[in-house]
Amino acid sequence: MSIMSPETVQKILKAGKVASQVRREGAKKFVPGASALEIMDSCEKRIIELGGQIAWAQMALNETAAHFCPEEDDKTTLKEGDIVKIDIGVHQDGYIADNAMTVIVGKTKEQQDLVKAAQNSLRAAIKLVEPGRQLWELGEAQLSEAEAMGFTTVKNLCGHTLDQYKVHGGISIPTYNNKEKTELKEGWQIAIEPFVTNGKGLIKEKPPATIFMVEQLRGVRTPYARKILDDVKTLHGLPFTSRWLTRKYGRGPTALGLRELQQSGIVRAYPPLVEVANGLISQFEHSMIVGKKTIVYTRDEEDEW
Ligand code: MN
Ligand code: MN
Repeated sequence: MSIMSPETVQKILKAGKVASQVRREGAKKFVPGASALEIMDSCEKRIIELGGQIAWAQMALNETAAHFCPEEDDKTTLKEGDIVKIDIGVHQDGYIADNAMTVIVGKTKEQQDLVKAAQNSLRAAIKLVEPGRQLWELGEAQLSEAEAMGFTTVKNLCGHTLDQYKVHGGISIPTYNNKEKTELKEGWQIAIEPFVTNGKGLIKEKPPATIFMVEQLRGVRTPYARKILDDVKTLHGLPFTSRWLTRKYGRGPTALGLRELQQSGIVRAYPPLVEVANGLISQFEHSMIVGKKTIVYTRDEEDEW
């Protein structure tokens, strides 16, 4: 990552504006009885309407931290008291804005502290972002805010650098003091995302996956796999979800094609991530460009974190 051109910065800021708006609009739709599938479809539609390019629209309920998109026949409706994470990714020519927030469905006040703790964690970490700041310091700030409210952070989830068409640019931003002394540099594009829980502070994968990414391009055997690969390789390595494919190709062909692509190491699955002790999880996330004046480009005036 080097210092960006003004054109690149403009693309990042535009992606940020759209991602922020769609995240807030989507969050408001999580009311009792609402359909998860309809909300996620509407988020994708809004990204396009607002002039963005879809990177992803994901959500996660209660003890699930991340990595879930509804299937085309998903019947999930939201219930009073559900803790919902909405995570929206928008890009402009591969320059990504990644942001997330948590809402409690309905009028329940329970678990408000859990939500507050993740907000505080994110705010505390962002305050420290400047060139020269070491990564462990950001992690320590996040964990200490979570602990101050009686919770902990999920240690095996982290923030990350962002790069063109790369959701994970190669450097992780810890959510606790992991002693990592790498320093933030001017012009880095990073996402900070504390996951806070009343569980053990660890997640594990819980298949089946609904989210996938192309890892490497190689030859395929069957027409099922070829069709899907021709389609998803246009994403340049950004994620895709199974319902985009099943709506086009049907469930059977999609399952066959995806299986082959995974077995041959072309596509990797990203199953839902759930808390190991079934703890509840809240998450907040912003993307920013590191500088003497850091630009938090997914933040909106309504965001207090
Ligand atoms: Mn995210
Ligand atoms: Mn992220």
